[in-house]
Amino acid sequence: MPDITFIGLGHMGAPMAANLLKADFPLKVFDLAPAAMQTAVQLGAMPTPNALHAVMNADIVISMLPASQHVEGLYLGEGRLIHAISPGAIVLECSTISPEVARKVHAAAKARGIHMLDAPVSGGTAGAAAGTLTFIVGGEASDLATARPILEKMGKNVFHAGGPGAGQVAKIANNMLLAIHMIGTAEALNLGVANGLDPKVLSDIMRVSSGGNWSLEKYNPWPGVMNDVPASRDYQGGFGVDLMLKDLGLAMEAALATRTSTPLGAAARSLYALHSNQGKGTFDFSSIQQLFKRPNQDWV
Ligand code: NAD
Repeated sequence: MPDITFIGLGHMGAPMAANLLKADFPLKVFDLAPAAMQTAVQLGAMPTPNALHAVMNADIVISMLPASQHVEGLYLGEGRLIHAISPGAIVLECSTISPEVARKVHAAAKARGIHMLDAPVSGGTAGAAAGTLTFIVGGEASDLATARPILEKMGKNVFHAGGPGAGQVAKIANNMLLAIHMIGTAEALNLGVANGLDPKVLSDIMRVSSGGNWSLEKYNPWPGVMNDVPASRDYQGGFGVDLMLKDLGLAMEAALATRTSTPLGAAARSLYALHSNQGKGTFDFSSIQQLFKRPNQDWV
């Protein structure tokens, strides 16, 4: 059994680490938040006093941190974790970060003989808890072959997107499209309802017509149309507006870096910024439906 170190035990990291413990992997953990550490320790993980201790002699290092600056700071910043990781070890960096930062960490890792994979995930906290995440991986195919059995303890689908940073590119392209069809779905539903249609009837029609899409079919943003989605529980839980805004920011950075035209992605980022600035940052991203709310509408 390889020795695994897990750094970052937040909403996603904690259940991912719990699935590795369930599969009997010896797991060392570190998080800046003592409460996050405590939960993992109760499940059988070994606590470590800091990240440098945590990675010493580890065969596999997994990190799940909030954003680019945390990842760059951890691996290349003051503590220079990359120098404490053993050559030959594998780093699975699962946070959603900029492809550019992912490539920087890849290069530093490679220079030390460390095998790095960027492996952002899709599937949210429910997928993390159920062990059904999708991993979208960038890096060497041979490194992925070694890491695959570990990833499969935390996820159901593992895709090799391409070389270093490719996992992040695929992830942010996907989330940009997700934001666009969520906003489009909310706009279309609102148009129908404003003109007298029942949102469920309209959803049923569009679902099997050319307007059908994942947001409409699996994650309907109109309250009450579907059970068990955030829209039907006051937009609680799910994937937060501020996380979507972060991912759209990453998409815009990648577009700027390559002079790529992303007009709908830019509009989506702007609409999510507006929505967040109206105090909705912690609500599920399908709450963008509320941006279309008309006076005297009674559903929110
Ligand atoms: P989170 O804020 O809940 O957890 C991040 C954890 O990292 C926190 O516990 C924090 O204390 C810890 N941390 C930060 N800097 C650290 C450091 N230097 N050393 C050790 N620990 C450190 O975030 P999350 O929701 O778990 O998301 C993690 C990543 O996964 C993000 O990049 C996010 O975009 C991505 N993601 C999240 C979801 C979701 O639904 N939450 C879905 C897909 C992808």
